[in-house]
Amino acid sequence: MDSKVTEQLYCSGASAYLTIDLGALRQNYLALAERLAPVAAGAVVKANAYGLGVERVAPVLHDAGCRDFFVAQYSEATTLKRYLTSDSRIFVLNGLQPGAELACAEAGIVPVLNSPEQVDNWAATARAHGRRLPAILQIDSGMSRLGLSMEDAGALAVDRSRLDGIDLLYVMSHLASAEDATNPQNAAQFQAFRQAAALFPGIAPCLANSGGIFLGKDYHGALARPGIALYGGSPTAGTENPMQPVVRLEVAVIQTRTVPSGTHVGYGGTFVTSGERRLATIAAGYADGLPRHLSDRGAAYFSGVRLPIVGLVSMDSMTLDVTDLAPGTLTLGSLVELIGPHQTLEQIALDAGTISYEILTSLGQRYHRQYRY
Ligand SMILES: *Cc1c(COP(=O)(O)O)cnc(C)c1O
Repeated sequence: MDSKVTEQLYCSGASAYLTIDLGALRQNYLALAERLAPVAAGAVVKANAYGLGVERVAPVLHDAGCRDFFVAQYSEATTLKRYLTSDSRIFVLNGLQPGAELACAEAGIVPVLNSPEQVDNWAATARAHGRRLPAILQIDSGMSRLGLSMEDAGALAVDRSRLDGIDLLYVMSHLASAEDATNPQNAAQFQAFRQAAALFPGIAPCLANSGGIFLGKDYHGALARPGIALYGGSPTAGTENPMQPVVRLEVAVIQTRTVPSGTHVGYGGTFVTSGERRLATIAAGYADGLPRHLSDRGAAYFSGVRLPIVGLVSMDSMTLDVTDLAPGTLTLGSLVELIGPHQTLEQIALDAGTISYEILTSLGQRYHRQYRY
């Protein structure tokens, strides 16, 4: 356990600490940029930088050399703009809702155009505005989520006048299975994307998310869009995570007890002890983003010892079986590790039946957040 954290516990009386290592974030960006060079490394900072705090994350990435930032929604773009300087570009992945075009153009924010309607709306805005407006054109290469169909892309390529007024910066697509290098969907999407991009000669390609960066140079295009790998999540399934951990979560013990065999634990009394057990209740639950699916499945760690979660996760707390620790080891205020050196983000996500992305973006607002460099 980190003495600095313990010290702050006494200072603030916080129940749980979420420590975000901005130095590791920076190193993750630099490692991806090195792997991509000479291709540009952008950064996906949607959903409050995957829950970690866009106001802290974006300036660190900018300082590390990032100039291309992706968010999902226009409202996120206007927030992000406050934390960046005018040498940066902000792209809106989901595109614009009708009516947002003029404000977007005036703010200098760049939409991803995902449909013929969005192309027409953006072109009309450019003409009304009397100047060319930048955009990315997304083509659906097989995920069936966002982007022009291959057919619509073909029609647009034939009738290029519909793009009049639009300064097309990139042709983009998104990979559905990039974290799994063995999945044949990658090559299929790559071929489809190459065909689509060929319809727009001279326009730079933009394809790779975190996983795509690890599929090889072919997938890098001219600008990559890593998200999860920046925040320490694994970009590659089934192999060792090459990224540095960014998030650490430690939660305080709020009560300990010793119970006899046959004791019911938690709501519904679903867990019943067999033999005398020592229990510790800790101060975080599903309202803090620790899924209820961790009940009777997940664990916390203390001094390298695995402490299983017993009974149902409550809203504000959960109970651990701490019998494997010597009596008296945990006391009021002791911090146990939920995410850290003994339990990766991927492990807790696996135990919760979800993915690292959902754990990060669900991290609660009650944690004492501390940013380290
Ligand atoms: C979220 C997102 C990304 C980032 O994906 P990661 O897997 O987190 O690297 C890239 N591109 C698009 C279109 C996205 O929606």
